[in-house]
Amino acid sequence: MAKLHNLGFPRIGEQRQLKFSLEQYWRGEIGQQSLLASAKNIRTNNLTYTQGLDFAQVGDFSLYDHVLDTSFLLGNVPERANHKDENLLDSYFRIARGRASKQDCCGVSAGEMTKWFDTNYHYIVPEFTADTEFSLNAERFLEQVKEAHSNASTVKPILLGPVTYLWLGKAKDGVNRLQLLDQLLPVYQQLLQQLAELGIEWLQIDEPALVTDLEDEWQNAFSKAYHFLQQRQLKLLLATYFGGLEANLTLVSQLAVDGIHIDAIRAKSDIEAILSLLKPHQVLSIGIIDGRNIWKTDLNNALNFIEPIADKLGDKLWLAPSCSLLHVPVDLALEQNIPEEIRQWLAFAKQKLTELTILGKAINCGRAAVATELEQNAQCIASRQASCLVHNQTVADAISKITSTDSQRQSPYKERAIIQQRKFNLPKFPTTTIGSFPQTSQIRKLRKAFKQGELTNANYQEKIKHEIKQCIEVQEQLNLDVLVHGEAERNDMVEYFGEQLSGFTFSQFGWVQSYGSRCVKPPIIYGDVSRTNSLTLDWTRYAQSLTTKPLKGMLTGPVTILNWSFVRDDQARSDTCTQIALAIREEVKALESAGIDIIQIDEAALREGLPLRKSQWQEYLHWSIDAFKLCANGVQDSTQIHTHMCYSEFNDIIEFIADMDADVITIETSRSNMELLDVFDKFAYPNQIGPGVYDIHSPNIPSVDDIVALIKSASEKIPTEQLWLNPDCGLKTRSWEEVTPALDNMVAAAKVLRQEMY
Ligand code: GLN
Ligand code: ZN
Repeated sequence: MAKLHNLGFPRIGEQRQLKFSLEQYWRGEIGQQSLLASAKNIRTNNLTYTQGLDFAQVGDFSLYDHVLDTSFLLGNVPERANHKDENLLDSYFRIARGRASKQDCCGVSAGEMTKWFDTNYHYIVPEFTADTEFSLNAERFLEQVKEAHSNASTVKPILLGPVTYLWLGKAKDGVNRLQLLDQLLPVYQQLLQQLAELGIEWLQIDEPALVTDLEDEWQNAFSKAYHFLQQRQLKLLLATYFGGLEANLTLVSQLAVDGIHIDAIRAKSDIEAILSLLKPHQVLSIGIIDGRNIWKTDLNNALNFIEPIADKLGDKLWLAPSCSLLHVPVDLALEQNIPEEIRQWLAFAKQKLTELTILGKAINCGRAAVATELEQNAQCIASRQASCLVHNQTVADAISKITSTDSQRQSPYKERAIIQQRKFNLPKFPTTTIGSFPQTSQIRKLRKAFKQGELTNANYQEKIKHEIKQCIEVQEQLNLDVLVHGEAERNDMVEYFGEQLSGFTFSQFGWVQSYGSRCVKPPIIYGDVSRTNSLTLDWTRYAQSLTTKPLKGMLTGPVTILNWSFVRDDQARSDTCTQIALAIREEVKALESAGIDIIQIDEAALREGLPLRKSQWQEYLHWSIDAFKLCANGVQDSTQIHTHMCYSEFNDIIEFIADMDADVITIETSRSNMELLDVFDKFAYPNQIGPGVYDIHSPNIPSVDDIVALIKSASEKIPTEQLWLNPDCGLKTRSWEEVTPALDNMVAAAKVLRQEMY
């Protein structure tokens, strides 16, 4: 009999209850008990979804982040979080977000946050020093195990493994983290012992670092760790996910564990390889349902793959989603607005567990036992394959007509720069912004009222235009050189475009945790993408009509739209990206025809799409940069293309960034004192660049001197004639009280620089 289990369920609750409880707690509106009760409710509810499985998982819940939980579990709490007479929960929130609540008198600097592998989830980076000591602090964890035990018969706790835990962290003093392994292992050992005493048979130990390129010392750490943990009274299921094991395959097959979980969505070929290496006592858990996307599984197809393996493995076969379901929304049943035809193609977390139980029955009792379910599933899959909502001949035709010259500017940058300078006559150190201006509550109310049908289109247009007008007036007063319309009409830089392009649909409750209480609702790309009407033209043209200064059109680029959406799994990501690129290209051309001669195409998320394996970077960068170029480069030499990126760790991809050939790129750097520009020591970036001169994530107002100093240090790496002055990123989260003086200082700094440096 194959066994069914799950690697983790979303923690936020069906209606984002966790978010609201957390925020109430942080505002001081509810106490700890009430917060913990709400958390317990979510866990109890989540447990009900595991009823059809052989194990109820526990340990996948977290109040903020499971990596931070692990730090606390292992007693690795940064000193600064502790305050005498305090409870652990408040220390926990201090590291998570700087302060435990509004009333917290002892705010500290929050732990660094970074992306969890190649997902859009962010974890709090564990902090290590040579003096780090670990001690088990398992009370909360064990409590949850007991809590699950009282509601479910067989409980499988989930724990982040020791090597991945170290791998995810950062040594504050540069110590080799692996030196801490010897100390860390006994603490794990102790925990394993305590779990065994609670009657736990299986523990899922997550080691996703195994799907990355590991240096020898990290490979050795795995051998050592699992050798050390050999003496134990419970069984370990080693879980890997998000990719293939590749060079770590043999290593994994030699580890002293009782089972291995493989992500068969991302690394199907690993299954065959591992089958021949599996020891007789070991179970193989196959991650057969996509935990990273929202499409229904083709169950018949999945069975074709699993059945022969089931024959071989019998009860040594386990089935599961590919990874934790943390990365998909909770429940499709809540959705009212997704068109029925599309809805039948989708499965969110709850539905994915139902799929798993159907697969389990088919394997254990034969397909006939679930004939109706399989038939229904086959119909949905067939409907999607044949649907004219998915396939659009016009798009296919347009794609087939793309030629390589479409992605090339007419002349090289040097020639364009002369033409553009003659046309725009911008001063040295031109000043501009990244696009959005404060999204006041008034603006948000406007959009909401329009969406809910309380405002007529004409009325809405008029009111947004009023906002644009004010925004232009402010920029004129500030004396910025290149203006923007301010993005008042946009809820979100991806959603806004998705809503107007064909091939996209939107959920109402499809929230996915991004970090802590923050959730995002990614658009769903279900079909061929095309532009059926103009996207930004009216607003932009109106804004330009109000000023004689150049107005910069503002678009989101294809790679960012792709990376922040749930995408099709029936064609390559690169194909979807090309379609989006073509659609946005049409908007670029329309803007150009309407006399908008400076156009910014944001690629905020280009870097985060990089694959986990370096060997796959080239391929990704190739098609993603190609898509950008296809989108951007169909314009006249005299049209100036800008792009913006929310980071500047370019060291390893700078050639590709340069290859995008944008006339101007604006990037984030202010927080690192321009240190991130070190890459330009080695690489002479040919085009113009605006290294962000102040951090928009902070309410602080930069002084003129600060900005001058930053640009001076940037000018050590980049010739002054290539430099622009702009904030780090869009200003939509800031207030006007913060934005106006900050930009005023930025413009003043430009004046100082023009005098001092020319
Ligand atoms: N143009 C966008 C804005 O200003 C860019 C946002 C981003 O880079 N994340 O809001
Ligand atoms: Zn940005």
